[in-house]
Amino acid sequence: MIVVMNPGAGKEDVEKVTTKLQGMGYGVHLSTGENRTIIGVIGQRREEAAQAMEAMPEVERVVFISRPFKLAGRDFHPDDTVIEIGDVVIGGPNLVLMAGPCAVESEEQLLEVAKTIKDAGAQIFRGGAYKPRTSPYSFQGLEKTGLEYLQKVREQTGLLIVTEVMDQFTVDEVAGCADIIQVGARNMQNYYLLRELGRIRKPVLLKRGLSATIEEWLMAAEYILSGGNYEVILCERGIRTFEPYTRNTLDLSAVPLVKQLSHLPIIVDPSHGTGLAGLVPAMSRAALAAGADGLMIEVHSNPQEALSDGPQSLRPDQFAALLKELKGVALSVGRII
Ligand code: PEP
Ligand code: MN
Repeated sequence: MIVVMNPGAGKEDVEKVTTKLQGMGYGVHLSTGENRTIIGVIGQRREEAAQAMEAMPEVERVVFISRPFKLAGRDFHPDDTVIEIGDVVIGGPNLVLMAGPCAVESEEQLLEVAKTIKDAGAQIFRGGAYKPRTSPYSFQGLEKTGLEYLQKVREQTGLLIVTEVMDQFTVDEVAGCADIIQVGARNMQNYYLLRELGRIRKPVLLKRGLSATIEEWLMAAEYILSGGNYEVILCERGIRTFEPYTRNTLDLSAVPLVKQLSHLPIIVDPSHGTGLAGLVPAMSRAALAAGADGLMIEVHSNPQEALSDGPQSLRPDQFAALLKELKGVALSVGRII
């Protein structure tokens, strides 16, 4: 259930109510909006607890949430969640652009691409040091060394870093280098990992699972939020369907739907969503028109030689041209690039 406080309720009023709830054995999460505070109450649904809350003068009303995701839902947090990392704001009017190679291959490769995507206008550099590959014979990533190279990108370019974590044991190591920690599609339902990410205080980019429903995806976010880490960014990256011409089917209807259901920011990854560089510009335009808060795009200086995901990677000049083109699309939906 959620407890909606009176519009004028102050800090002490909220404390009084949360202390009472905790005394009854409930977990509490606060959503402090501009006009009022909402308390997310986690625990067994009990009528008498709701009645006790409603009897408190500081409380306006109690609402039972029927959807399984409580903290990820709009009832608990009616305003959009806006995540600020340094100068970069995710979920506000400015769109966020994350770009870079699929995998960290070498220091030179990273720095070369990083400079070009920064000049083009991206704010966040992507690149996997830990790579979840379908085949054990494919390039598996540079791991620790890859994280060191990413660190150099941050130092030399000022770009923020988003990189993937593959298990709960390496969360602190990856968090030490990343500004945003990526959970890949294959790990969306790795609950030990999600719990560990709830423990830390760093934004998490949660990709949609290969065949995950929107509810399963929001429940995965719920794991992180319920640990007290409220900075989750969702990423639609395509789902598996019967269509073989594209690597995945990019579900753009998920964008406005997630916006209705949840307050969390959502970005779109048209690279994994299609698997084809030639489709990335059109699907980027469509994603922004659908209301996405940003894009994640794979960029490689020489896609033919890429150690992973070359066919879906744009060259830096293509990426720069795309961003120019996207400015107009952003403007048409009241956003800024
Ligand atoms: C990636 O971002 O390179 C990646 C592996 O993505 P996904 O988890 O969406 O397949
Ligand atoms: Mn990739």
